[in-house]
Amino acid sequence: MSSAKIRLCVDQPLGPGQSLPLSEAQAHYLFGVMREAVGSRVLVFNGRDGEWLAEVTEAGKRKGSLACVAQTKAQRGLPDLWLMFAPVKKARTDFIVEKAVELGAARIVPISTEYTNAERLRRDKAEAHVREAAEQCGALNLPEVTEIAPLAKLLAGWDPARRILWADEDAAGQSPALAALVAEAPGPWAILIGPEGGFSPAERVELRALPFVRPVALGPRILRAETAALAALVLWQAALGDWAQTPEDAAAEAGS
Ligand code: SAH
Repeated sequence: MSSAKIRLCVDQPLGPGQSLPLSEAQAHYLFGVMREAVGSRVLVFNGRDGEWLAEVTEAGKRKGSLACVAQTKAQRGLPDLWLMFAPVKKARTDFIVEKAVELGAARIVPISTEYTNAERLRRDKAEAHVREAAEQCGALNLPEVTEIAPLAKLLAGWDPARRILWADEDAAGQSPALAALVAEAPGPWAILIGPEGGFSPAERVELRALPFVRPVALGPRILRAETAALAALVLWQAALGDWAQTPEDAAAEAGS
């Protein structure tokens, strides 16, 4: 292990000796803000080639370069879990994106529904949040953010092999425990969270009729959309996700 603490998300492929020209923003951050210099060591990842220790080989005000030294973590995949949600207010949407990365969602799928109040979600901004969250939390993966799409359209072309865990505020007392549901099908899943206004009667009828949709209650209180997203991600990860990694698995990874 190295003592390098800064983690940078880069676009280039990573490999022994690979040189990594820095973007202006990265150079400013590393040399202007963090006061790193030639010879400093940082960690880099790109979502594909694991994590690498890299050394600063050139440090300028607006540019700079790194060279890969050695791999510190092998690439690994994420459990096949998507998060579908209707954008809410900006700060709350940012929170959902950040938590989806920290909690290991493999894809972030913004949807518009009948009662969605924020119709826009800047995909480039969301992707920048994904990168920042991944840098900060030690993630090796960069979940893809899809373009916002109407829920009805997504459901019409849905692959039935992927179950939908529908966070349904009206399901309290009528739906099986989440753990039982998830254990029923360890395949791919998508979590579905509604907007502040919830789902419309027509959307509820459609969702209830689909064989791959499982309505789930997240307790007896009405949660805000961002709380519901977080709770559903946590419950799914604890039942089926990569939280089950043993200390031995982690040690083997760190030693590799
Ligand atoms: N306005 C709605 C609440 C919407 S809360 C109403 O008062 O009925 C936003 C979203 O969070 C919901 O659409 C649902 O997906 C999720 N949610 C909130 N509380 C929940 C609960 N107790 N169980 C399951 N899902 C919940």
